[in-house]
Amino acid sequence: MHAQIIPDTLTKLAQLGDNTLYEPSGDQPQMERLRLPYQSRSINECITNIMTPKGKKPILKTMMTTACERNCHYCPFRAGRSKTQRVTVSPDEMAGAFDTLQRANQVQGMFLSSGIIKGSVTTQDKILDTAEIIRNRYHYRGYLHLKIMPGIEFDQLYRLMQLADRVSVNLEGPTQVRLNALAPKKDFQRELLNMLQLAEEIRRTHPYEKLAGTVTQFVVGAVGDTDLELLSLSNRLYRQYGLTRAYYSGFSPVIQTPFENLPSTDPLREHRLYQASFLLRDYGWRVEDLSFMADGNLRTDIDPKRAWAERYLREAPIEIMTARRDQLLHIPGIGPVGADAILRARRLDKLTDLSHLRQLNIRAPEQAAPYILLDGHRPATQMVLF
Ligand code: SF4
Repeated sequence: MHAQIIPDTLTKLAQLGDNTLYEPSGDQPQMERLRLPYQSRSINECITNIMTPKGKKPILKTMMTTACERNCHYCPFRAGRSKTQRVTVSPDEMAGAFDTLQRANQVQGMFLSSGIIKGSVTTQDKILDTAEIIRNRYHYRGYLHLKIMPGIEFDQLYRLMQLADRVSVNLEGPTQVRLNALAPKKDFQRELLNMLQLAEEIRRTHPYEKLAGTVTQFVVGAVGDTDLELLSLSNRLYRQYGLTRAYYSGFSPVIQTPFENLPSTDPLREHRLYQASFLLRDYGWRVEDLSFMADGNLRTDIDPKRAWAERYLREAPIEIMTARRDQLLHIPGIGPVGADAILRARRLDKLTDLSHLRQLNIRAPEQAAPYILLDGHRPATQMVLF
């Protein structure tokens, strides 16, 4: 039975092409967008190498359907766009095709999204059914990243989190006003933010259960959203909703959409947002630590950590032998692992030279040099320009 269905399904999936190009899912999201879209109609177009917590993996990135009843202004799948080829795959077909690819060693995981047809709840059921078949009929235990449709039911969300390693709900904009401009049929609080809130509640009330982490994505730069808005919300999501990661997708215009004539967002803005987001998530920075320009955006010509150091540390360098961990994490070139290594090493001996930092696996201590003292002295080095 499946022998007849599966080749047809792979052909269908190949027709979908790299339709999730603008939906990053791994730990190096910008790398996922380096390919040119719609190069061919081969199944390879649906397979993307992503970085996951367990290393690099080729995953099937695809959709249950490219039809959608909503009309988000930036999206190639919006209702009424005649250039979009509408392809729909059933849960049985999707799960069977994934199983075939997985057994052939072509993929080691799946990212599954969907356009919305007959409402979010019905659409979510199709994703859930696919995941149930993959887990229960094909006994697949590897990586699944499943999309949360806007405003689904509590039980659906809970089951999704049991089946997946990662789930995502895209907030798209940082406020209701920005979202209205991007996606007029989406409700920021009720349909989107509430999903992240509920996911955290589910994790909190089921502490011993293995449940998926949550991620979200923003469309950056189409409707006047500022870095301050995006990073303030990201910070709140990291602190209060246990968000694993925020993705920032620079806007890129799609023909035959209301935004087709808007300019693309500078990729450097996306890059600076990721740098700042990591400072908030992994380095204990507060939003107030970041330097925003008058328009609410970060400078693109300098990384946010160096911008802070230039402002505060150039004239008042931090003493490495006595600095607290949070102070060390404000020094360019020193990350969480390096900071911990410094704290351990200085209990045993004095750190007096940049070579001592290098011995602690701090790869480029020259980056830190203009902003530190080593046992009371500025390090002996020439300043490196970046
Ligand atoms: S709901 Fe999703 S697929 Fe549908 S138009 Fe909006 S972004 Fe596109």
